[in-house]
Amino acid sequence: MRYKAIFIDIDDTLLDYIPCCREAFDVAIERIRDSRISELGMSEDELFDLFFAVSGRLFSEAKHGMHTIAEVMDLYPAEFCEKAGYPVEAVDPFKHSFREAWGKTHTLVPNAREMLEALQSKGYRLFAASNSFGHLQRSRLEHAGILHYFEDTFISMDIGYDKPDIRFYEESLRRCGMQANEVLMIGDSMTTDVLGAQAAGIDALFFDRQKDSLMDIIHEL
Ligand SMILES: [Mg+2]
Repeated sequence: MRYKAIFIDIDDTLLDYIPCCREAFDVAIERIRDSRISELGMSEDELFDLFFAVSGRLFSEAKHGMHTIAEVMDLYPAEFCEKAGYPVEAVDPFKHSFREAWGKTHTLVPNAREMLEALQSKGYRLFAASNSFGHLQRSRLEHAGILHYFEDTFISMDIGYDKPDIRFYEESLRRCGMQANEVLMIGDSMTTDVLGAQAAGIDALFFDRQKDSLMDIIHEL
């Protein structure tokens, strides 16, 4: 085997980000429904589109070092509430409801479980590698029934650095006692997963959800 261990991104590699996001959003928006001060006439779908655009822009800026992931977690609820016409008092209830609901969201990307099962049975040590809150990501993997495939989870808020920072990968290697050349990183982000891992000397496999199936990865390894 060319590699001993595999680091695997979570969102849009194992768990389907948009449906998870919508599920948590629906809970959070319901929580602040009565506090809306400005009636902009937006439907729930339009509100979600706004939320998704705001959070997407901020997470994308974080990939380029403009914010930490921890900062983004506070920035996007505030910006969304302001743009959607909710009072500042709605920001915290929205944020906390979203996080609580997010920790239970677990829509799997097709074949995620099959891929993990196959990689484990081939003898690879598996580790999750994700930018977020550790307890929420572990809870989501557990709800999805796939946490047990992982020997450990390397999540940015626990590690102290966000992907693609080289220190995220260095600390993850240290925690599992592996050398960079023994590990393969798999993820759907060219910036955080592929280029980040490669900068740390780790080979990376880009998972292009538009074109590839996770089954292809099983056949490659
Ligand atoms: Mg991802």
